[in-house]
Amino acid sequence: MDGVNDYDYLFKILLIGDSGVGKSCVLLRFTKIKTIDLNGKQTKLQIWDTAGQERFQTITRNYYKGAQGIFLVYDVSERDTFDNIQNWVDEVKNNTEKAVTMLLIGNKCDLVNKRQVSTEEGEQLAQNLKMCFLETSAKDNTNIAKCFQVMAGEIEIKLSTDENEIDNKKIISVTEGKKIKKRKIC
Ligand code: GDP
Repeated sequence: MDGVNDYDYLFKILLIGDSGVGKSCVLLRFTKIKTIDLNGKQTKLQIWDTAGQERFQTITRNYYKGAQGIFLVYDVSERDTFDNIQNWVDEVKNNTEKAVTMLLIGNKCDLVNKRQVSTEEGEQLAQNLKMCFLETSAKDNTNIAKCFQVMAGEIEIKLSTDENEIDNKKIISVTEGKKIKKRKIC
């Protein structure tokens, strides 16, 4: 599947977060462009890294342009990077026109003895922000492929859904032919 047009979907996905959280390593693990199978549809993921621009707070609107998915990455062994996630969410919202799919990633989960942010805190934040959450390790390859698969699935759902807010919980109606399936986000 290396041709130009041999895919059903093409998703632009960004990695965002403080410097040093492991964005480039996550990307290297997965490689920059990959085609995955999504319910039988060949889906090409084009993944962009900030290339260190975040250090100078110079991420341009161009970087965000056309993105369907954004990974918000923090380092479980550096609390500051977790505390900064809300700022990144605000930055994304200020720079994107349509609602993009965001997914929270706690990277470096292999650093068991240096952990400063618990899994429960990550889950709680993701729930507050109404997004999926995964802990990863680019070092030992934990959940790397899975986070891209989850992201692609969430984008696809968003593309084909109506969203309803029910009791403050986000419920998504997924239309599958004539059947309507109700699904709660993660
Ligand atoms: P970026 O600035 O967010 O792109 O971060 P980098 O990908 O350059 O990684 C910063 C540092 O964290 C490097 O020294 C990496 O080797 C290290 N690193 C990245 N991911 C992991 C991980 O999952 N576990 C551990 N232990 N170190 C990691």
